[in-house]
Amino acid sequence: MPNEVLRILILGGTEEARLLASRLADDARYYAITSLAGRTASPNEIAGEVRSGGFGGVAGLRDFIAKNHIALIVDATHPYAVQISVNAMRTNVPCLRLERPPWQPEPGDNWSFVANIDAAAQALPKGARALVTVGRQEIAPFLARADIFVVARMIEPSAGETPDHAEIVLARPPFSCSHERALMEDKRIDVLVTKNSGGEANSAKLQAARALGLPVIMIARPGKVAAACVSSVEQMLSSIEAELG
Ligand code: NAP
Repeated sequence: MPNEVLRILILGGTEEARLLASRLADDARYYAITSLAGRTASPNEIAGEVRSGGFGGVAGLRDFIAKNHIALIVDATHPYAVQISVNAMRTNVPCLRLERPPWQPEPGDNWSFVANIDAAAQALPKGARALVTVGRQEIAPFLARADIFVVARMIEPSAGETPDHAEIVLARPPFSCSHERALMEDKRIDVLVTKNSGGEANSAKLQAARALGLPVIMIARPGKVAAACVSSVEQMLSSIEAELG
């Protein structure tokens, strides 16, 4: 009797999730469905089946898993997307976590570490001109600071008015170091605020800050609880293969 195909739900929204979907699509032993939160209007193309939008909490996720005969979840969501990962751990199928390593400071870096978005907004000194790259969903605490100037970079526009002491820059990574440096110089940035997303596509801003001697306010990862966590697509493919038994 032929072996059954292993049906996998990839919780996506990251480049790693996209790469994993592409690898699994080439392997007849697997059938993968990638799930996106649906926040991005035109996400990059993903191989295999793709669905979009919240499941409706843990109950909705369990229902989806049952209806689609999912045997394994790969949680490849962004390190700062906490709720979906908590929900994934509360289903009755095994859940593996794929999380890219965080960036580490290098010689010449001047990083301050803060625990969360609100602490980052508070850490900015009066009069600062900050490049803030936390995304549109979490920009509010920075825009609320009328005593600083915020250059808020995001992929898609945020809802609501942009105050006079802020400017929205719409752009999609990856960015080159020269692009990041030019942006910082052009906008007379004196501090960078970022989450510790890790990965290559988004790291040029850190190189540019280093080259310009600018301080960085680095927002710590929330620390997801995961049964088994690996940091690369190759490692995840090995972990998935082990699930075949
Ligand atoms: P979150 O706070 O963990 O999730 C909030 C709710 O959004 C979840 O409870 C779930 O709704 C829905 N959701 C999130 N990810 C989903 C997915 N992959 N498929 C289906 N539903 C999903 O997450 P978030 O911070 O809003 O992030 C949303 C997505 O954007 C994630 O997939 C993440 O990988 C990506 N992302 C996040 C960040 C970030 O900094 N947070 C950055 C880049 C990309 P239900 O409870 O209704 O199922």
